[in-house]
Amino acid sequence: MLQSLMMQMPLLISSLIEHADRHHGDAEIVSRRVEGDTHRATYTELHRRARQMANALGEIGIARDHRVATLAWNGHRHMELYFAVSGVGSVLHTLNPRLLPEQIAWIVNHAEDRALFFDLTFLPLIEAIAPLCKTVKRWVVLTDRAHMPAAPKLGDLLCYEDWISAQSDRFTWPHFDENTASSLCYTSGTTGHPKGVLYGHRSTILHTLASALPDALNLSARDVILPVVPMFHVNAWGLPYIAPMVGAKIVYPGPHLDGKSLYELFESEKVTFSAGVPTVWQGLLAFMEANELKFSTMNRTVIGGSACPPAMIKLFQDKYGVQVVHAWGMTEMSPLGTTCTFKQKHTEWSAEQKLPVQFKQGRALYGVDMKIVDDEGAELPWDGVAFGNLLVRGPWIVRDYYGSGEAAPLISDEQGKAWFPTGDVSNIDADGYMQITDRSKDVIKSGGEWISSIEIENIAVSHPAVQMAACIAAAHPKWDERPLLIVVRKPNASVSREDLLAHYEGKVARWQVPDDVAFVDALPLGATGKILKSKLREQFREHRLPVT
Ligand code: AMP
Repeated sequence: MLQSLMMQMPLLISSLIEHADRHHGDAEIVSRRVEGDTHRATYTELHRRARQMANALGEIGIARDHRVATLAWNGHRHMELYFAVSGVGSVLHTLNPRLLPEQIAWIVNHAEDRALFFDLTFLPLIEAIAPLCKTVKRWVVLTDRAHMPAAPKLGDLLCYEDWISAQSDRFTWPHFDENTASSLCYTSGTTGHPKGVLYGHRSTILHTLASALPDALNLSARDVILPVVPMFHVNAWGLPYIAPMVGAKIVYPGPHLDGKSLYELFESEKVTFSAGVPTVWQGLLAFMEANELKFSTMNRTVIGGSACPPAMIKLFQDKYGVQVVHAWGMTEMSPLGTTCTFKQKHTEWSAEQKLPVQFKQGRALYGVDMKIVDDEGAELPWDGVAFGNLLVRGPWIVRDYYGSGEAAPLISDEQGKAWFPTGDVSNIDADGYMQITDRSKDVIKSGGEWISSIEIENIAVSHPAVQMAACIAAAHPKWDERPLLIVVRKPNASVSREDLLAHYEGKVARWQVPDDVAFVDALPLGATGKILKSKLREQFREHRLPVT
């Protein structure tokens, strides 16, 4: 075939920060830090520190492909690592601090992380996991000398600020194959052990380009972006990459995620755009309602990770003048799959007419192909009524999990095309708007974080009085979903709700313990003897969880 005569340049993450430095060098990165202060830097400064960190990584023997972990809030130091670690050809592994220490240690060992950078907040967590993490050779505290903790159990801790300031800022980002791995994020959104999603430079750059487009997140050099979504949850939905690409100012809230702190930061930094799961917005909106406040500059927010309640969309738009972009995606999708933005035909529609469209999860970004299929794999029509398993494919969608030892998750259709089964059930209307109606995967999503129903069930049946147990999601006004445990007792055995809930102590994180227990005589079973969760969800649709 005739080859193009265009330049061959690999799509590398380092190109984003080089671009920001050269073309938007004075755009700001503002961070509220764990130490209590507010830090201000520019892209030029951030780039300089990323180069210094690249030299520092070399000093401790971090080489290409090595995994480097972070346990950190959203902030400039975390962003420096995004560019330094991936830029040298190593893999940035962001850890979720909300998991149990044993789960975090399992993930660190599975990824074979060589170094772990952490915020001061997480020192107790690090002390708990350090003896279990066999591969970590260096522990780095993301702080300065004045705030360095005394932690004799951890041995020789590195102080990030001391270390970085001792480095030369002369460093040239290497060029390598754009398919090289760049970052790693584990998801517990499936059954069994957490699974690693290994992103690459190419997939990240393509996702960054597509996500910034007007009908996706619509971001530009005139925006001030505040990612509430954590940098340990799918790279803060890509915002630390998009901001330098478009030259936007970026504002990081650090650990300060309550309504008051967020509101003050939105106002003081003139934020125009934010992103997060529905739960965080409840805190912000409640604070604003109680204090009769309005936004001066905020005009758009992307809400996803869980279904955005229609009342929240209305409140943001009608009362606060903030356009809501409902979005859907997954860790396995880098994460953006769909955004709910309008088409030409909607321009004449009234706000009231447009609302039902916005309740949907939206239409696919260029780069994401999707279809819905029935249980036999036959494609279903796009009529907004037929619903089935949602399958996706595209260059920023996972093809296999990292070192899972299991078969790749993809399925092939009759044309031999490979698709990733999302585990979501949805319909798609004639205009291509997708709406999630259910989930076929056995998990519960509470406040944007996963709870494995299998794990909850296994603990229940380990109780001597329990014969069978099933855990399903029950609707909750604040957390969207909370676990409800449904139990069949053994004949002549007795166990109370309180006994069962006490049985979870120390076995899962406190926020993963079910909110309620329902006792039944039998569970509905399918032909293969599997518990029919869909029947149970139907049966307990009206279940009211106790108010805590
Ligand atoms: P995660 O990998 O943690 O980002 O979770 C991805 C899953 O969260 C999806 O497969 C859905 O089940 C759920 N999810 C994400 N966004 C939405 C949304 N807008 N509406 C409903 N569910 C969502």
